[in-house]
Amino acid sequence: MEIYAMPQFDGHELVVFGHNANVGLHAVVAVHSTALGPAAGGCRMWPYVSTDAAVVDVLRLSRGMSYKNAMAGLPFGGGKAVIISDAKTRKTPELFEAFGRFVDSLGGRYITAEDVGTTIADMESVAKTTSFVSGLSRKPGEAGGDPSPKTALGVYLGIKSAVKFRLNRSDLSGIEVAVQGVGGVGYHLCRMLAAEGARLRVADVRAAATERVRDEFKAVVVPPDNILSEDVDVLAPCALGAILNSASIPQIRASIVAGAANNQLAEDKDGQALQMAGILYAPDYVINAGGIISVAREYKGGGTEAQVTAEIHGIPSRLTEIFERARREGRTTNAVADQMAQDLISRIRRKMVA
Ligand code: NAD
Repeated sequence: MEIYAMPQFDGHELVVFGHNANVGLHAVVAVHSTALGPAAGGCRMWPYVSTDAAVVDVLRLSRGMSYKNAMAGLPFGGGKAVIISDAKTRKTPELFEAFGRFVDSLGGRYITAEDVGTTIADMESVAKTTSFVSGLSRKPGEAGGDPSPKTALGVYLGIKSAVKFRLNRSDLSGIEVAVQGVGGVGYHLCRMLAAEGARLRVADVRAAATERVRDEFKAVVVPPDNILSEDVDVLAPCALGAILNSASIPQIRASIVAGAANNQLAEDKDGQALQMAGILYAPDYVINAGGIISVAREYKGGGTEAQVTAEIHGIPSRLTEIFERARREGRTTNAVADQMAQDLISRIRRKMVA
């Protein structure tokens, strides 16, 4: 493996491997940039097929966190951790305590939190061995805790701004939304959409998850293979990455794609395919920043839930700015968002050098 030659390598400041055979820890931390502050981003636990696959993912995800934090106006750079293991069978408190020691050894350049495969309980174990962790349990009214409902709030508000921009509708009553994945984020998103009269179609590979939203929000359940091609106004991907690709895009009938999943575009050029198909795409790391806003406010300390909610209400105006600029300049929304994030980071970098 030649990290510097990998296409996902983007001048990352740090890529480090953490290993502890006694507890089965094989982890990689990547710090993409600390220009805006210590690198913040979650810890993903996933049974990667190889170390190379884990490195590719952590490089990509940490760069995404730099962009996400910059666009959310947070004083944090971008980083991410991956633990190469199966979250369903291999979790122990000792593993997360060892991971915490690994994070601690980086001296605060990287701050961790939960991500796919890790939970608040896991982060409580991490917090036994490092203070560079967020996304812990908290008292009612305090900032922080489970980021999923906060992410869902940002996505809900983002869908409203996309519907206003693309369909010129100020409310969601009667708007049809297809939600792929009704787990932590998707469930709360369905709750908010249904409360405003949106009509829901949902898919998940877990029957219990779809039954819950069917019973609580009158959602129509469709097979996972059909959800992307449903005849709806909005498609909200809230499950997997890379689902917007050359095979899926021609099947999409929605005029808006706006959801929580990270890295929805398989490749940048898929943003162009969406644009050419007349589909408005809400860049994932802008619309799904609610969780990191909550985690960041918790880490800083002393914040309230109301402050987090107020900050999340900044997401739709950022999206509208991206949509307008993309239309004005004839560019894709993902290219415009990347450019805005890169400009924010390099402006600070230049100030630091000067
Ligand atoms: P989750 O694991 O709680 O939920 C994901 C759901 O998708 C699960 O119910 C799973 O069964 C389902 N799923 C998996 N494969 C599927 C398929 N092929 N078709 C349909 N459903 C499928 O995860 P989450 O926390 O809700 O996060 C959802 C997405 O949003 C992830 O991509 C995550 O990276 C991203 N995200 C989450 C947060 C957060 O705060 N949790 C923040 C930013 C981004």
